[in-house]
Amino acid sequence: MSSSHQISSANLHFNAHGTPIADDFDDVYFSNDDGQAESQYVFIAGNKLTKRWRANSCYSFTVAETGFGTGLNFLACWQAFDDYLSQNLATGSKQLHFISFEKFPITTNDLQDAHQRFANLSHYASQLRNAYPQQLSAGCHRMSFAGGRVVLDLWLGDVNDIMPTLSHHNQGNVDAWFLDGFAPSKNPQMWQQSLFDQMFRLSRPHATVATFTAAGLVRRGLAEAGFEVSKQAGYGNKRDMTIATKTALPQSTQYRTDSSTEASSVAIIGGGIAACLTAWQLAQRGKQITLLCADEQLAAAASGNRQGALYPLLTPKPSELSQFYWQGFRQALPFYRQLSELAPSIRHQWCGLLHLSSNEALAKKHQEIASIGYPTTLVELVSAQQASALSGVTLPHEALYYPDGAWFCPGDICQFIGQWLTEHGHDVRLNFTVKALTQADDNWQLTGPETLSAAQVVVAAGIHSGQFEQTRHLPISAVRGQVSHVPATEASQQLKTVLCHTGYLTPMTTDDSASHCLGATFSREDKSEDLHDDDHQTNLQRLAQAMPDSELVNDWQTTPTEGRVGFRAVLRDHFPVVGPVPAWQQIEGMAQTSVLASMPLQQGLFVISGLGARGICSAPLAAAVVTDYICGEAQCLPQPILDAINPARFVWRRLKKNKPLFDQ
Ligand code: SAM
Repeated sequence: MSSSHQISSANLHFNAHGTPIADDFDDVYFSNDDGQAESQYVFIAGNKLTKRWRANSCYSFTVAETGFGTGLNFLACWQAFDDYLSQNLATGSKQLHFISFEKFPITTNDLQDAHQRFANLSHYASQLRNAYPQQLSAGCHRMSFAGGRVVLDLWLGDVNDIMPTLSHHNQGNVDAWFLDGFAPSKNPQMWQQSLFDQMFRLSRPHATVATFTAAGLVRRGLAEAGFEVSKQAGYGNKRDMTIATKTALPQSTQYRTDSSTEASSVAIIGGGIAACLTAWQLAQRGKQITLLCADEQLAAAASGNRQGALYPLLTPKPSELSQFYWQGFRQALPFYRQLSELAPSIRHQWCGLLHLSSNEALAKKHQEIASIGYPTTLVELVSAQQASALSGVTLPHEALYYPDGAWFCPGDICQFIGQWLTEHGHDVRLNFTVKALTQADDNWQLTGPETLSAAQVVVAAGIHSGQFEQTRHLPISAVRGQVSHVPATEASQQLKTVLCHTGYLTPMTTDDSASHCLGATFSREDKSEDLHDDDHQTNLQRLAQAMPDSELVNDWQTTPTEGRVGFRAVLRDHFPVVGPVPAWQQIEGMAQTSVLASMPLQQGLFVISGLGARGICSAPLAAAVVTDYICGEAQCLPQPILDAINPARFVWRRLKKNKPLFDQ
């Protein structure tokens, strides 16, 4: 697996027309004559997109493409979608979700050269290049443009390897296919029957396919997969091209999604980072949000720490846990960049993060992580000398360095989103403790200080997420963590990066408090909300063990008096719970099933909890997963990782082993 993170970029040159040519395939990326006109004719008109956007009763319309190449098709489609939106129709699609697969991504420099040919797309092309992944590592790179109106999921890797791992919840997700990917004769490895079969599986009923080629193997393959296939006149000097439709009727759905253009309501229970980011992402998909926070202000519980570190949880061997956090980290970076540009009030620093190899176990672990093959621009092993130069303080150990690591004040993020929601006509209720949930027809009723109703509910209430009858079997536990606030000293002000060891130390806050966060303890037994002196001591001692002779430590001999206690929600397998809540009673009578995703579900009820101590890193991804479930859209995680965070996984494992399903 070590190489699976690494992706080779495309080898290309430009011909006399300025058209990019792939050296390894000896084929053009687009027509020499007029690539943009070809894209418009073959893919956009071939799939009748403008007409279908107008007639669509779903909020989002999903296009999927084989072979992202220069992004020309994406850019042309985005422009066509903007033209359609500028008509300001009351009905029709409001969002474009564009999914593309690319085995040999083009570097940003080559993209810039290729985009020279399309001056009228330059407004879109520059945004694409800004968001384009700098580190070409495998998996999904989700990019969001125009305030979420256009979402691009760029999956790096071989389309034939990736597609079988994608979930197609319910009815499929794809409305139209751009079947691109060099001529079948030049790239036979891609044009396989399994590709057409997967396209059919992932297609919604009435989905269409358009491709520039009329090769017999493509037409036969699409027909064999189940599409109805026909020919039409090709672009330029090509006689024919192929179009196809999935005429299959809708099948019964496993769970209710809400993809309509109506602003249907979602109630979110919680006030921390998971709840707020979910509210934010759902609001961007046109949902009407009610955010219900039991406390008198948002982020009063585990998300209330002054400074939280942003970095992924990586394991020494490649694992699904690493994969989840790696994807979470990659997705968090552009997400927080955009958010902090929008809201300068959010205290944060893109200061980099060093995880010190401060004991033998950490040293071994870090060396193993460094050998996995993650892009060194995102994480690399540095010497003690390099670590000292990077951090501004003398460090005795080598370290894993995350140049894009950062700290954020999660409370500021929640406050900003709460205010934004209120200003945009959503409902934010503080001091609102939801006591019970009841299902009434197609709606949920939430009983609290008053009774509210919503079409869908997301429980994102940290350690309290299992408090409802409907969620009580989720095995969420609480782990107490005490952070110490230590005053800045002359030596400590030199610290430029976040330092992690067996605990962590942040650079000085950027506000008047002139302090650092030093944390955090970890206790399952202690339920006290009060600060403990011995926990402050533990935090100091752990720092002293990691850097015994440091001036930093010498300056902090007296026990801190200030700090904060929070209770993190955790699951025993270290993954969070993210997704639809299972229908426990129905499972009790069930036979074993090998397919976790087919477990019966409570309609319209979702959970995000168990983000542990890494909520800042994983919350943007977790919120995106729940948002995609609710809206019936394509997920940015492959099925094995969705399974690993599926709230039904514990009961499903017990079912498979014939064990009692629930703890008594
Ligand atoms: N749609 C592109 C555009 O708008 O610029 C042009 C696509 S170009 C003709 C074909 C693309 O398919 C290349 O970028 C190539 O690297 C990619 N490709 C070829 N085989 C692939 C595979 N098996 N999996 C994913 N991408 C593949």
